[in-house]
Amino acid sequence: MTEPTWSPATTAVTAGRPEHVPDAPLNVPITMAATYVAGGDVEYGRYGNPTWTAFEEALGALEGGRCLSFASGLAVVATVLDLVGQGATVVAPRHAYNGTVMQLADLESRGRVVVNLVDITDTDAVVKACDDAALVWLESPTNPALEVADIETIAAAAHEAGTYVVVDNTFATPLRQRPLTMGADLVVHSATKYLSGHADAVLGAVVVADDQLYDVLKGRRDLIGAIPGTLEAWVALRGLRTLHLRVERAESNAQALVGRLRAHRAIAEVRYPGFGGIVSIVLNGGADGADLLTHGTRLWVHATSLGGVESSLERRRRWKSEPATIPDGLVRLSVGIEDVEDLWTDLSVVLDGLA
Ligand SMILES: *Cc1c(COP(=O)(O)O)cnc(C)c1O
Repeated sequence: MTEPTWSPATTAVTAGRPEHVPDAPLNVPITMAATYVAGGDVEYGRYGNPTWTAFEEALGALEGGRCLSFASGLAVVATVLDLVGQGATVVAPRHAYNGTVMQLADLESRGRVVVNLVDITDTDAVVKACDDAALVWLESPTNPALEVADIETIAAAAHEAGTYVVVDNTFATPLRQRPLTMGADLVVHSATKYLSGHADAVLGAVVVADDQLYDVLKGRRDLIGAIPGTLEAWVALRGLRTLHLRVERAESNAQALVGRLRAHRAIAEVRYPGFGGIVSIVLNGGADGADLLTHGTRLWVHATSLGGVESSLERRRRWKSEPATIPDGLVRLSVGIEDVEDLWTDLSVVLDGLA
């Protein structure tokens, strides 16, 4: 019998479960184990854990590849960038996630790699840059500028040039974009965000289609030890079960808010790629206006990070490391799953006072 192809909503609920046999638990337990009885495939707690495996099976099924979980999103970024040869060129978005750009700058300052930061929306320029690069790092949509890359065109050109393609898929999630089907070699996630979705765990993951690449990455994880916490993996899998519901609700809330934000006099610019739950707004009042907003709301919590059930917001340039090309008055909204009218009431009371 051939297995039917389940839809992503079904996969999110069913993947990474124990087999349906009498008295099997429906959920994989939290296996706290530093070591295992000798003679098996795992042997030691740094080499594997059944709770990680369950999370990895579920995310791998959603992305269409084989998954490895890590201690954090940035642990994945470091592990992948470490594969780049000495002195090779890495192409990356100038507005990639701040920590990614900081890692690249750190590597470049130590002579490890040459970094070529590009405008990810300028497909021709990115394609040209791939020519002499070992790796092109894509993030789409970017954080927090919300620029969208033409992944398929860039990946095709990159492969002609023998360049590996990574896509940080944290914002889109596999429900809105499956980079491996678009030509990417590696998909990177901060599972801290939408995948776990409740702002209660820090976790990263990488998904690849190629078995050899999987083995290389597994070998690096074994050696470096940037392994996930068992509880974090369990919590992330628990969150993943409702990914489709959370993403749908955050997205419909975001879509309802975008039109109202665009019409508001206190706002100069609204950036929204048309999908997902992240909206960036630029306040007319610059940094001061943005700070009044982030300190003035009661429902929306002033906090960094994103992708949780609760709505949050922050002025990104409050971080010294955020590039100057991000407007001073840009506030990134992570739209949650609350009642959208309540979200608008809370925002508009403060915005009206600024207009
Ligand atoms: C948060 C984030 C990361 C880093 O992930 P951590 O889990 O915080 O280490 C990487 N990429 C993007 C797009 C992010 O938003």
